[in-house]
Amino acid sequence: MNLIMIGPPGGGKGTYSSRISEEYDIPHVSTGDIFREEVDKGSDLGKKVKEYLDAGELVPDEIVNKVVEKRLKQPDCQEGFVFDGYPRTVEQAEALDEIEGVEIDLVINLEVAEDIIIERLSNRRICSDCGEIYNLKSMPPEEEGTCDKCGGDLYQREDDQPETIRNRLGDYREKSDPLLDFYREKGIVKDISIKEEKPVDEMMEKIKSAVEEAGLA
Ligand code: AMP
Repeated sequence: MNLIMIGPPGGGKGTYSSRISEEYDIPHVSTGDIFREEVDKGSDLGKKVKEYLDAGELVPDEIVNKVVEKRLKQPDCQEGFVFDGYPRTVEQAEALDEIEGVEIDLVINLEVAEDIIIERLSNRRICSDCGEIYNLKSMPPEEEGTCDKCGGDLYQREDDQPETIRNRLGDYREKSDPLLDFYREKGIVKDISIKEEKPVDEMMEKIKSAVEEAGLA
């Protein structure tokens, strides 16, 4: 089951990918998470990508593709995976196509109204220990600043500040149409439109139906 989740920043890619990962027992591969970990570790890769992440700009395709190719060779990816935040450009999709033995089965495209995105991103908080995602309005933690699951401290991503959000949205709009066309030609895109805030469980039902319709579960 090789899935790709496409959607704007703040569209819920991370939340739904992590739920899909639990539901179907496949790894959740988020290039954003991989890069943030490398930045935190201060590795060579982390040093290379830090300025892009801080500015909310895309990391060059060449770097991203190498990271993904390495990740896909790991044993846990052999039965399937859900990509979150990759590919983001046609060049990345083409590179993915060329990796031997990897065929994408389904692309879930989250179409999310812009006011929802801004509202979500500016209220998003993340656990610094386990990565759990909260929203101060729709999914607040029980105790302010503390993760319900593990007690870790919650933080706001550097690139969830208003100016950077605008940069990331602009980039997304420009890059996502050709990317979706690439997969539409293959007939594997399922669009899920989100015009108003919906509970995660309700969204998951739609996503699971899409996986079933594609004959994957
Ligand atoms: P995300 O967590 O998916 O919003 O990604 C956070 C940041 O990581 C992005 O703003 C980019 O700087 C970088 N990044 C993650 N995935 C990619 C990708 N597929 N291509 C280029 N840059 C990426």
